Amino acid sequence: MRIVITGGAGFIGSHLVDMFLSLGHDVVAIDNLITGKKENLTVHKNLTFLDQNVYKYIEVDGRVDWVMHFASPASPIDFTKYPIPILKVGSSGTINALGLAKAKSAKFFLASTSEVYGNPLEHPQKETYFGNVDPISERSVYDEAKRFAEAVTMAYHRFHKTDVRIIRIFNTYGPRMRPEDGRVISNFISQALTNKSITVYGNGTQTRSFQYISDLIEGVLKLIDVKFHEPINLGNPKEYTILEVANIVKKLAGSNSEIVFKPLPEGDPARRRPDITRAKQILKWEPKVTLEEGLKKMIEYYKSVLQFQGQ
Ligand code: UDP
Repeated sequence: MRIVITGGAGFIGSHLVDMFLSLGHDVVAIDNLITGKKENLTVHKNLTFLDQNVYKYIEVDGRVDWVMHFASPASPIDFTKYPIPILKVGSSGTINALGLAKAKSAKFFLASTSEVYGNPLEHPQKETYFGNVDPISERSVYDEAKRFAEAVTMAYHRFHKTDVRIIRIFNTYGPRMRPEDGRVISNFISQALTNKSITVYGNGTQTRSFQYISDLIEGVLKLIDVKFHEPINLGNPKEYTILEVANIVKKLAGSNSEIVFKPLPEGDPARRRPDITRAKQILKWEPKVTLEEGLKKMIEYYKSVLQFQGQ
């Protein structure tokens, strides 16, 4: 197959690129490198890299079998740093990616997010839950862009009969997540390894459920082969408070860092845990990597990265 991956130089996109290359496919990775990094991509005869802004245009020559739209800054610190690019890549970027799929008679795969549930009033979150999103909060740039992306994807499916897939990705971590990316796992591990204070926002009772990158990639691969067009949650249903995560990271990293409390960002969801019944039934998929196993791998990864950066 020939697969176009927008956001191909990003954290998740680059792991997808590797997976498809290892299966012998041709890959076209598109990225404007605002949060992605070219170093995330290996040099490979079956890989083409295009430095394009997918919300302005997408130009790909030749046959295309899949367009996988994974481009978007996704860390909460990006919501204030890149609010307009996030809105553009989720709206115009998704339309451009769907347009490419339509022009090439290709299938379309959308990376959506648990953020479509906002600060959820239903727990755990099933795909049938419509969400609780403030349309004007700082997080809304991401939440609403992805909600729009889902809407336009379903419209292309209904109106143009585009063969689409939609996943809602819950908190995911793994190698190539930038240490300075601002999300909780990257912050806590970098802080623990450099003996800086571990910054818990709020009182740390808010919860999240963390999925290791290899589990997500396996879920994506399974969905490629299944004709199911509505959203599917991909995440690890084991739920932790953020304070628990801080203590686990501290212990696993053998760190003396103290845990300090900082203000909770605006609109920070109080609880988040996927209901993965649909993924289990339709994909015969469930995550395998526990938080402790995944964190150990991440700690080793960040040790080498931080050493390289001289910290
Ligand atoms: N968080 C924290 N300290 C940090 C970074 C994040 O306590 O240094 C909290 C954040 O307030 C949120 C949770 O960890 O409740 C997960 O944050 P993250 O930025 O990873 O992603 P989110 O799930 O909010 O999109």
